[in-house]
Amino acid sequence: MNCVHCQSEKVVKNGTKRLKSNNDVLQQYLCNNCGRRFNERTGTPMAGLRTSVEVIEMALTARGEGLGVRAAARVVKKSPSRITAWEERMSEHLENYSPPAPEGGDVTIEGDEVYTRVRENLSPRSV
Ligand SMILES: [Zn+2]
Repeated sequence: MNCVHCQSEKVVKNGTKRLKSNNDVLQQYLCNNCGRRFNERTGTPMAGLRTSVEVIEMALTARGEGLGVRAAARVVKKSPSRITAWEERMSEHLENYSPPAPEGGDVTIEGDEVYTRVRENLSPRSV
């Protein structure tokens, strides 16, 4: 298994977590490369994008700072159409989207929670 955030293979098991919503027990993982935690369900809807979360965050942050789609695309060296696609994916749950942690801070994004919730919203009880 590779890290869903940075695709590193330096991933170790990091305990389990029981979901309050349906009592599922998820295996948790810790990435020794980027230091983020995730579980076996983390990665939706980002997983299908085949782009690192950092890149998407950078693009969306640039857009949030007022850059146009083309300018944001140049920042992350991706095509404008991909920026637009990411924005469409994120727009459905903007209230759940957390901006990147400040440089050097020890605050991490609770990505697990966000993406888990998104997955549950998209496909309730289908797992
Ligand atoms: Zn990682």
